[in-house]
Parts: sequence; structure tokens; C-alpha cells
Amino acid sequence: MKILVINSGSSSLKYQLFNMKDESVLAKGIIHRIGIDNSYLEYEYGIDQELTIEKNIDDHKSGIQLLLDTILDKEYGVINNIEEIEAIGHRIVHGGEEFASSILIKDSDLSKIEKVSDLAPLHNPANIMGIKVFNELMPDKPQVGVFDTAFHQTMPKKSYLYALPYSYYQDYAVRRYGFHGTSHSYVARRAAEMLNEDLSEIKLISCHLGNGGSLTAVKNGKSIDTSMGMTPLEGLVMGSRCGDIDPAIVPFISEKEKLNIKQIDDILNKKSGLLGVSGISSDFRDVEEAAKNGNERAETAVELFNYRVKKYIGAYSAAMSGVDVIVFTAGIGENSISARNEILAGLEYLGIEIDENRNNCRGQEQIISKPSSEVKVLVIPTNEELVIARDTVELLNN
Ligand code: ADP
Repeated sequence: MKILVINSGSSSLKYQLFNMKDESVLAKGIIHRIGIDNSYLEYEYGIDQELTIEKNIDDHKSGIQLLLDTILDKEYGVINNIEEIEAIGHRIVHGGEEFASSILIKDSDLSKIEKVSDLAPLHNPANIMGIKVFNELMPDKPQVGVFDTAFHQTMPKKSYLYALPYSYYQDYAVRRYGFHGTSHSYVARRAAEMLNEDLSEIKLISCHLGNGGSLTAVKNGKSIDTSMGMTPLEGLVMGSRCGDIDPAIVPFISEKEKLNIKQIDDILNKKSGLLGVSGISSDFRDVEEAAKNGNERAETAVELFNYRVKKYIGAYSAAMSGVDVIVFTAGIGENSISARNEILAGLEYLGIEIDENRNNCRGQEQIISKPSSEVKVLVIPTNEELVIARDTVELLNN
């Protein structure tokens, strides 16, 4: 069974074609600069074969058509007939309170996804566009929606409600939703498998540290709290997002710098975090490098980043009355040996003992705690696309 996984953004679209017989990836890539000059399709296939097709891509429909033509191409295609694709799985950023699991998309669902679009105005409309184009181009193929927020719908009210006037929750659905749910649920399950534990019996903290980052407390297999909020701005220090701040800073800076709300929102999302503090880059590697070379602000940025993660580990250990497993994933979690070291330093009192040799790894599944460590610590590369493909197969089979 072949499943096409689509992550449709406003001006780019990521795709992966899976052969679910062995969960191998037949082709993957990105369509860049949709509706902008110099658009192109990046395509990886076979064993490390790559191709770039430069072409005018005016809209999502022509981009997706180009993608389908490419995977069907006589020379470099990976399937012979479009009918080989059994279904399309879509990543959808926001499911609001409406969607607590993945769905086989019906027409009536589109309006429900549209309804929560004001909670993710940059993402949901682009996700919906992807679904609509496939409805046109492959009308008889089932489409599945997998929501970044769905995994966190198990959070109790004390975790998701903000202490604001209650009517904001009732009237505008203002609450914590959390994101990266597909990733957190994937690594939690995989960790239990690797440790031969029953996920429904353990307390796990999953640290998704990428450009955007979030921590999730997973108790008995369910998300009970997560660091991102109504939007992906809350929580950790991120590449260019500030994470937790005192909300009173907003009116204060507005007054001082004569900025309106929209401008401040932009600063909090795009000019803060590692970039804002270091003044160098939003990319963790660049900032770490500058810190090693003695740049003080870069050093401070890295310290802030690691310290915030450490604090959330403490908070979530308290929330779950302990922790059995900690998992690191995404670009920084999978690759930064020093970040993992510094985040976990001083947490021996929780029963965490890190094995330096084991921690000396990048981008591979690895238990990095000592055998004697009460808390098991793991590195697990995330694979959100595979979860989407698996959910798609599961929903088709049901
Ligand atoms: P996204 O959220 O865009 O999917 P990723 O999960 O790819 O992000 O993570 C990107 C982050 O991972 C960047 O900050 C990058 O610097 C960091 N990163 C990637 N490789 C390394 C590495 N070897 N050491 C430290 N950080 C790394």
C-alpha cells in the first residue's frame, strides 16, 4: 500500500511517498516558493538520488500536479500508475477542541477545520488548500487529516485553561492546545518499545527541541501538559520565538518603542529567542559555535535555552509525581550533545545519571543514561511523516 504524506504550507509543500509494506520512503522532497518567483521542486528518490526541477509554480494545484508528474516520470519516477497511491495523509496544524484524533476527511470536516483557522491563521488555510487540491486532482482517493494538536486533547482543564476571564475560553476558545503532538506521541511510543515498557504504565517527558520546541508530560500514555500554548509562541526559548515572558512586557515595550500589537507580535515570534538574545542567528548550531568562540551574548542565549528546558523537566516531574523516562528529539534534541548534557546537569537528585560515552551520539536511537540510572534517558529521531502514513493506513483499514 502506497501512501502520500503532505505537509502543505502557504508557500511551500513538503511531501513523502511511503511504501507501507515495509514503511520505506519511495520519494520525498519540498516544493519551494509556490506563487513566488523562482519556484522549484526538490525531489529525492532511490538511493540518495536527487533532482531539482525549476518551473513556474503559480499555485498549490500546479505544484501538486508537478509533484504527481514527477513521481510518475518514466526516467526518475517511482510508481507506474497514479492508482498505486491508495490515500493521502495531511498534516493539519490546528484541530482546536474539535479533533482529538486523526480523521478520514469528509466534506463536512473542511468547514470545521476552517472554523478553527483563526487559531492558526498562517497554517490551517494552507493545509486546507492542500486537501482541496487533492479533492480536485484525485477525487476518488481517501484523504486523512492528522492534527498537531490532537495528542494534547487529553490534558486536564487545570493544564489547558489560562487564568483569564472565563468568557474568553467560552467565546473564543482561548486555551492551551499544544503542538508537535505527532512527534511527542511517536517518540513516547518508540521509547516504551525500546525499553520494553508498557507506555500506559510510565511517566515520560518528551523534549522536542527543533527550531520550534516544546516539552510534553506524558502520563500513562496520555499528554497531561505541554509547554506550547494557544499558539506555538509559549514555553521554551526557541530559534526566534521568546517562549514564556511576563505579558506585561507587551504594553511596556509598546509604549517605549511606539509599536502596535501586530509589530510586537512579530518581534516575539520572529526576532526573539536565540536570535534576539544572541543577535547572531536563530540556528542553534550557529549560536553554539559563536558561544564556543567566546561571544558572550551567544553564551547567554544557549544558557537561557538549556535552563528553560531544565525548568520544564522539573515542572513536569512535579506534575506527574516523578518521571521514569526522558526523551530528546528534533534537530537540537537529536544532535546537540552539549545541550543534552547541560539540560540534565544537576538533575541527579531526580535519579538521572547520564553516560557520557552513550550521550556522544547524533541523529540515532540511543539510550544515553547509565544502566544504574533510575530515570532512563533516550535520544529518538522523530518521524512525524511516518505517523501520518501509519494513521492513514489505520483509518483506511477501519
Ligand atoms: P524544525 O523545527 O524546523 O523542523 P529541526 O528539528 O530541523 O527544526 O531543528 C533545527 C535546529 O536543530 C536548528 O536550530 C539547528 O541548528 C539544530 N541542529 C541541527 N543539527 C545540529 C547539531 N549537529 N548540533 C546542534 N544543533 C543542531
